[in-house]
Amino acid sequence: MTDAAALDRDDPLAAKRDEFEIPEGLIYLDGNSLGCLPKAVPARMAEVVSAEWGGQLIRGWNDAAWIDLPTRIGGRIGNLIGAGEGTVVAADTTSINLVKALSAGLALRPGRKVILSDTGNFPADLYMAQGLIRTLNKGHELKLVAPEEVESAIDDSVAVLMLTEVDYRTGRRHDMAALTQKAHAAGALAQWDLCHSAGALPVDLTRAKADFAIGCTYKYLNGGPGAPAFIYVRPDHLPHVEPMLSGWMGHEAPFAFDLDYRPAPGTERMTVGTPPVLALSALDAALDVWDGVSMTDVRAKSMALGDLFIEEVERRCEGFGLALASPRDAMVRGSQVAFRCAKGYAVMQALIADGVIGDFRAPDIMRFGFTPLYLRYADIVQAAQTLERILREETWRAPQFQQRGKVT
Ligand SMILES: *Cc1c(COP(=O)(O)O)cnc(C)c1O
Repeated sequence: MTDAAALDRDDPLAAKRDEFEIPEGLIYLDGNSLGCLPKAVPARMAEVVSAEWGGQLIRGWNDAAWIDLPTRIGGRIGNLIGAGEGTVVAADTTSINLVKALSAGLALRPGRKVILSDTGNFPADLYMAQGLIRTLNKGHELKLVAPEEVESAIDDSVAVLMLTEVDYRTGRRHDMAALTQKAHAAGALAQWDLCHSAGALPVDLTRAKADFAIGCTYKYLNGGPGAPAFIYVRPDHLPHVEPMLSGWMGHEAPFAFDLDYRPAPGTERMTVGTPPVLALSALDAALDVWDGVSMTDVRAKSMALGDLFIEEVERRCEGFGLALASPRDAMVRGSQVAFRCAKGYAVMQALIADGVIGDFRAPDIMRFGFTPLYLRYADIVQAAQTLERILREETWRAPQFQQRGKVT
């Protein structure tokens, strides 16, 4: 049996937990949906609100360098995903950034009509692609294949291979470098959604030669509910990208107030309107927790936490109708583990009531996220014990656990 206490003693990331606000007695396995609050954030927010907004008012744009937040924070995120300096900006939402990147990619491949994605992609990504296709009205097609069939479906009809690296439900991880290479060999571009990758595992956009990448910061990057997202454009494409959302913040000289749009020379051209200073400031403070953190340590612990959870749940909960929906091999799994369970919704509600927070994804997926910066091995064992007790005692049958909220 695993000695969780010993693993926690030897954990090089153990001290990081103190940098987070974690409610007493709570085991939080949902950092893949909304990361915990870093302790540095409230004080920084109070300062920005009172001293900068309250005291500096309009002068804050220059004196507190609010205007540089999208590029400066973009640079900090870029360091975590292998992007070169000046190639990432923090802006808008993942959904909006998807359209910005995809419209740019399609324009770079004018003779081709296919956007290739998979059936495991997050629906929001697919909806945005469908909306863009309708708006462009140029005969593009969104082609969906099973995740395992993506590689063989790449051919010379594909304009953009549009994928999410880590499947939001199963945690299955695509091989970003290999699929990007395959896309390039077929003359296509590769666009990656890193929502479940940034802060969860090592990403090297430069080495993978990814053409575009997008992602959110409220999951593993702990930026807070609805925190601004990010967008990466490979530097050699940038001069050829004519932004579809040609906003004044992406203009070469916003304060020249010219009547015609001219894109900024750098990745700023991917920004649109006035940056959300408060939200960006929270994100900026939240990113401090990554200072000095080795992504190799994060990945090693993430894989170990996931393996331990699978082992504990399968041993304790055998015969209760749970089936592993995630890859067993940690190498091809992101930082989450999912189990299928017909009564999964009610079981998850009972778990949450008992202080173990995961989430549920229709139709039958119980999803558990592992955030190495603030979870302990002992938490994993305790979470599995709680799940076992709920299944044995059938507490999930209580009527209050059958009612569904707006957000699951
Ligand atoms: C979380 C997530 C999103 C969310 O996009 P928003 O615009 O922030 O709502 C999009 N795509 C994927 C793959 C996600 O995991």
